Amino acid sequence: MAKVLIDLKNICKNFGETEVLHDFNLQIMENEFVTLLGPSGCGKTTLLRMIGGFDSPSYGEIYFDGKLINDVEPNERPINTVFQRYALFPHLNVFDNVAFGLKIKKTPKEEIQKLVMDALKQVHLEEYYDRKIDSLSGGQQQRVAMARAIVLKPKLLLLDEPLAALDRKLRQDLRYELKDMQRSLGITFIYVTHDQEEALTMSDTVVIMNEGRILQIGSPEMIYNEPETRFVANFIGESNIVEGKMIKDNVCMFEGVQFPCTYKGFSKNEEVDIVIRPEDFLIVNKNESKLTGKIDSKTFQGAVHEINIIDQNGVELTVHTTKDYPLEMEVGLTVDPENITVMKKPGVNTYSGVMQEDGYVKVSDDMILETESELEEGTEVVVRILTQDVLLDDIDESDFEGTITDIKKRDLYYDVYIKVGENKIVSSTSKVHKVGEETGIWVKKEKVIVSVEEDLENE
Ligand code: ATP
Repeated sequence: MAKVLIDLKNICKNFGETEVLHDFNLQIMENEFVTLLGPSGCGKTTLLRMIGGFDSPSYGEIYFDGKLINDVEPNERPINTVFQRYALFPHLNVFDNVAFGLKIKKTPKEEIQKLVMDALKQVHLEEYYDRKIDSLSGGQQQRVAMARAIVLKPKLLLLDEPLAALDRKLRQDLRYELKDMQRSLGITFIYVTHDQEEALTMSDTVVIMNEGRILQIGSPEMIYNEPETRFVANFIGESNIVEGKMIKDNVCMFEGVQFPCTYKGFSKNEEVDIVIRPEDFLIVNKNESKLTGKIDSKTFQGAVHEINIIDQNGVELTVHTTKDYPLEMEVGLTVDPENITVMKKPGVNTYSGVMQEDGYVKVSDDMILETESELEEGTEVVVRILTQDVLLDDIDESDFEGTITDIKKRDLYYDVYIKVGENKIVSSTSKVHKVGEETGIWVKKEKVIVSVEEDLENE
């Protein structure tokens, strides 16, 4: 079983009046390569500085190997940092730069000799030991900075955009070297970047951040293939994100066309966001798919052609192909079911229901809600309730009741999943509840939105 090395508990950080990290919780395992990925200003560096001990949280605890380290000085933490500006000493040669920390620790001379040369070997610079720093290229200087950090054998290495100052080709080469080094040294790496390609190629785990909060944590594959929100899908790669509906289990619809997909458990006609990667659209003959369009523009990107297609509804879709197609050509588009990602729209419960007497709507025998609708009894309707409008209270006081099956922490509140007979309802609340608890549920009648919608299944 992997051991937790860093445990961040309820970390908040304020600069003056501004809170830049909000109730941040994260566990990092021993030997893990974790990347914090997010746009500029989302709080990555601030978090790293607090783990390193260069700054302290306004609230919350940082544990290292089970020990609270909030008040431990940076040089007493078994942690080292590699910064974007590598801050090497220009007047010392390569060897002395790497040896610097060991000398301060009064390590015996022979040991220093061995440790420094071992570290230089790790970064492929053993032949450069007596070179002056300013005679090295940017990439070589970065390697010296790495050697200087690993020579002290830290348990955890913090890397703050260490490759940002380098050119693209060098960045790509160094990515693999860093990953190899992490594996062979068995050190935990926390790596900060806003470069999604870097995050996806190197990490075991990617933490996507925005505005001081975690949006999603997962393996690179999970994050890329199953983004949970529009933000993540947009941020992590170029994606087509279109509005759609789940017609029934395993069938979704977007751009007016139904497609088989691998998703289940949505309400009938539930509105969703659909994500399709450019490389997952297949261009076919225009008679072979109901989704058609015209090639509007294209660029050759070295490995693929990026083709922009305006579809029959005027929506632009981006496709990557290895084959070139002429401009203006009319084409069909298909996509394999497993390449369609369906994302739940945040914050809405959607059901099908039937109007009853006096403005009541019946979703099921266990869920009958009062509404302000004047629709006729027997009318089939779609019922929508925002999760924030689902209130939990004593069973005696409520409209109906259910059992809490799951609780997910969101930014400032919890999403509480409740089973009501055969249905599920989600309540967003800041109150703490427990899985397994029986709860009463009520929704104000003006918050129950009913509408009549055509049946899309038989189109
Ligand atoms: P980048 O990718 O641009 O480095 P980041 O995600 O690392 O960004 P941080 O440097 O952690 O972001 O900054 C988060 C927020 O905190 C920003 O709005 C920044 O302006 C603010 N901030 C950081 N340090 C301070 C400080 N010492 N005083 C006031 N505000 C600060």
